Amino acid sequence: MQCTLLGTGDVTGVPAPFRALDDAGAAARRRRPGLLVETDEATVLFDVPPEFREGVRDRGVRSLDATFVTHWHHDHVGGVDDLSLSARADVVADDLYRTPTAGEHFHREKPYLADRFDEHDLAHGEPVTVADVTVTPIPVSHDRPAFDALAFRVETDDATLLYAPDFETWCPDMPGGDDYRNADLAILEATSVVAPHMLDDLAPREDPVADAAAHRTVLVHLNEHLLARDTATVAADVADQGYELGTDFETYVV
Ligand SMILES: [Zn+2]
Repeated sequence: MQCTLLGTGDVTGVPAPFRALDDAGAAARRRRPGLLVETDEATVLFDVPPEFREGVRDRGVRSLDATFVTHWHHDHVGGVDDLSLSARADVVADDLYRTPTAGEHFHREKPYLADRFDEHDLAHGEPVTVADVTVTPIPVSHDRPAFDALAFRVETDDATLLYAPDFETWCPDMPGGDDYRNADLAILEATSVVAPHMLDDLAPREDPVADAAAHRTVLVHLNEHLLARDTATVAADVADQGYELGTDFETYVV
C-alpha cells in the first residue's frame, strides 16, 4: 500500500489567506487535509479538500475506486463539487462513503449535487471492502460534542494504516471506537503533540498520538501561523517526541 498526503494544513491552509509563507517561517505550502491510498487493486481518496486536484495531478492519478469522508467540514470536503464533475463524466467512481450526519450536511449545503454520487452510509466499526482494501470507520471526538467525525483504519493483507487527520480524542467506549492502536503507519492530527495547551479545556486524558502506539507516526493538520513557530522548529519538536512532520505530496510505502 502506498499513501500520499494531499494536504497537511488545517482549515486555512498555509499560507493563510492574505498571508505569505515567510510570515510564518513556513518552508512550504500546507494544503487542506486529504489522503490518497493506492494498492495493487484500488485507488481510494480519503477526504476531498479544496486543493485535492493538485496532489492527485502530482501523483499522476487517473481514476478513483471510492471516496471516504471523515467529516463534513469545509477543509475536508471543499473539493466535492470538483469531484462530482469527474464522477459525472465517469472519469472516477461515484461511490461516496460518509456517515449519515455528514450526508445530512451534504444534502443541506449542496442539494444540487444530490444525484451526482452513489452515497453509502458508514457505521462505526463496520468495515467496507473496496477491492483489496478494507476500510473500518472509527468514531472520534472532534469540535462539537455531537458532531459525527471519523478516523479510518485502512488494511490490506500485509499493511495497516490509521488515518485521523482532525480529532481531539479517541472514543474507546463507542462501538468500534477502540480499533486505533498498533498500525504500521499512523497519520494523525498534530495539535496534541505540538500545541497541547490548545486542548486544555478538554478533560485530562492520555495523549491520543502516544495512545495510538503506531510503528511509525506522521503528524498533519497544523499551521505555522497559528503555532507562531517556523517549520524547522516544529519539525525538531516533533522529532524529539519520536514522530515525523508531514509535508504535502509526501508518499509513504506501508
Ligand atoms: Zn474538522
